[in-house]
Amino acid sequence: MSARDEGGAYARIRENLSELGLDAMAAGLPHWMSAVAAGEADFASAMLAMTSEEAEAKRRRGTDRKVRAAGFPFVKTLADFDFSFQPSIPRAVVDDLATLRFLDAAENVVLVGSPGVGKTHIAVALGVEAVRARKEVRFTDCAALVRDLKDASSRGILAKRLKYYAHATLLIIDELGYLDVDEEGADLLFQLVSARYEHRSTVITTNVAVGLWADVFGDAVTAAAIADRVCHHCTMLKITGRSYRMKDLLAEAADGDGLPERGQS
Ligand code: ADP
Ligand code: MG
Repeated sequence: MSARDEGGAYARIRENLSELGLDAMAAGLPHWMSAVAAGEADFASAMLAMTSEEAEAKRRRGTDRKVRAAGFPFVKTLADFDFSFQPSIPRAVVDDLATLRFLDAAENVVLVGSPGVGKTHIAVALGVEAVRARKEVRFTDCAALVRDLKDASSRGILAKRLKYYAHATLLIIDELGYLDVDEEGADLLFQLVSARYEHRSTVITTNVAVGLWADVFGDAVTAAAIADRVCHHCTMLKITGRSYRMKDLLAEAADGDGLPERGQS
């Protein structure tokens, strides 16, 4: 092919790739066409490299879409987590959870601790790991979950809604205990937890020790029934450290008056 023909072919291949939405292949095209023309690569290896890049880009887009669909409040991973700041968290246990073996065994995880210690961060990170492993993950705030189930119940579609939450391979219930749950809400949560029991994994973050859940649910019997099913096959992580949110404030306090520096005006 003459240089001129090649230029024409290049433009048309690019057009076709772009029409087909194969942007990663289109991006690699100039490099691989020159490499083949110069005899540095053969056609098969160029095609293999370009199609591999496109497939990888497609996988990444799929994961990104599923991460967005999971409902995480923010997207952070274990790589973003500073374990040295929170020595009460056994890193080996978290690393083991990150292998996602607990999902295969339908085991639960309960993260207990005061605000800001990283409970939601770790729950999200395990969720992101599960999405990457192509598991179906649903993240929900406990109060929103109870509200949603009550709403479904009042509209006569509770069974369908329970199925939706029961179905996810991993359900993350965040902030149990921040708001009290009334009797109806406790009963709905119990139904959900029962449906998932020994079947699918649930991660719960809470600021209330499991033994005190009766205070959250206003009913010792339902609280015990929920706790019983959640804790039967469960990794319990009690985080006793300082709030990460207060970290910078504490550092400033150590530096001076604890107030941010004021401007000149
Ligand atoms: P909790 O759910 O326990 O109230 P979060 O997980 O929401 O706390 O943490 C509060 C904020 O601080 C989040 O932005 C989180 O990413 C960050 N954070 C908490 N602990 C750590 C840590 N050890 N390393 C890095 N970031 C952290
Ligand atoms: Mg939280």
